[in-house]
Amino acid sequence: MSRSAHPAGPRHADVLPEGHYSAPPADLNTLDPKVWARTVGRDERGVVTVGGLGVDALAEEFGTPAYFLDETDFRARCRAWAEAFGKDADVFYAGKAFLSRAVVRWLKEEGLNLDVCSGGELSTALSAGMPAERIAFHGNNKSEEEIRRAVEVGVGRIVLDSFQEIVRVAHIAQSLGKRQRVQIRVTVGVEAHTHEFIATAHEDQKFGIALAGGQAAEAVRRALKLDGLELIGIHSHIGSQIFDMAGFEVSARRVVQLLAEVRDEHGVELPEIDLGGGLGIAYTSEDDPREPHEIAKALSEIVTRECEAAGLRTPRISVEPGRAIVGPTAFTLYRVGTVKPLEGLRTYVSVDGGMSDNIRTALYDAEYSVSLVSRTSEAEPMLSRVVGKHCESGDIVVRDAFLPSDLAPGDLIAVPATGAYCRSMASNYNHALRPPVVAVRDGEARVIVRRETEEDLLRLDVG
Ligand SMILES: *Cc1c(COP(=O)(O)O)cnc(C)c1O
Repeated sequence: MSRSAHPAGPRHADVLPEGHYSAPPADLNTLDPKVWARTVGRDERGVVTVGGLGVDALAEEFGTPAYFLDETDFRARCRAWAEAFGKDADVFYAGKAFLSRAVVRWLKEEGLNLDVCSGGELSTALSAGMPAERIAFHGNNKSEEEIRRAVEVGVGRIVLDSFQEIVRVAHIAQSLGKRQRVQIRVTVGVEAHTHEFIATAHEDQKFGIALAGGQAAEAVRRALKLDGLELIGIHSHIGSQIFDMAGFEVSARRVVQLLAEVRDEHGVELPEIDLGGGLGIAYTSEDDPREPHEIAKALSEIVTRECEAAGLRTPRISVEPGRAIVGPTAFTLYRVGTVKPLEGLRTYVSVDGGMSDNIRTALYDAEYSVSLVSRTSEAEPMLSRVVGKHCESGDIVVRDAFLPSDLAPGDLIAVPATGAYCRSMASNYNHALRPPVVAVRDGEARVIVRRETEEDLLRLDVG
């Protein structure tokens, strides 16, 4: 079993038993559209293209490793989410998945709102012109400085995460002569990852205020009393990489139950509920994610049904997909440096990046797929492990995958579905220079986050 085994079983938190891999695909040259960005294909030479540009030319121009982001796909996904949820709901893109000023502009143009969870993310959003009222501010330990700035610029909502924060935000808002719109984040006793969810009596985690034991009801009581706060609703986020809607069902039911209690006690019907993000994407061909319209339909049916049963007006729903929007839109392009066959085990393929540009495999045994992209090959499949160049044996990018047995130094390979939580979690370990993010659209490629340089590293090191 994995080091990071999840209490709810091996399919949780992207954890799989050691040695799990499927049979080799019938044709290693096939690109599964489930895991690759929308405009990815192969040209007549067999070279993989994105937005009409070959990866050989892209590697030449921008170097490797690099993230290539399909802007057409990103915008299409934004539109699909916005249309699926319609006028009576709000879609907040979770900026922590990947945020840059270009991304903020795309979101703004496509009509999405934005979740931020730090002063840095807030600055990025504001500097690219996202209207403050379309920003939600999250986090379990926002600093007073962050709260003050958020209130001053007029963010649309602050999501309150603790009893201390209720008082802190109220006090800051009042001192600025403002009334801040807020939601209270509750933990509903549901934790969902991947294909299952578990319902627990108590949530043993740092986020939110428990529904259990009347904690959340008490938080509402306090928030309603404070002049600096306008309580607009309840927030719940139950996990990540979720395929099963049952967790949302239990969560929505429990949140609606709280809304009913609030109405009974205070005569107030809170107008909004936020069901968080966490919707899963396909990292490998085995994953079957749901389409935004299916998710929207399922969530709105659950909420409508529960509200009818409780005699409540249906509140405005919001959701916060991060991974589901940006994850599938990008791939990481690497150049193969060494190929090391270990007799009877597998072949280790070393690339020019690693855990500094994709920590998810090392962090929670995330699964990825990988393909040879600079050419096609008819060679036999070989069981491979794609590893990075860092001084850690856990520096694994793709634990188990099949690559053609004629793979050689100099070949380009690419790992799809790296748009979320890869660049945003990238590090300078071993003084690695974090790779650029290049947006590709209609035959044009544009750097939206440039590659780090040694000067960047040395600028921080003041000697
Ligand atoms: C991380 C997070 C999200 C986004 O999660 P994804 O898995 O990227 O969809 C949404 N809301 C909150 C509160 C989060 O912490």
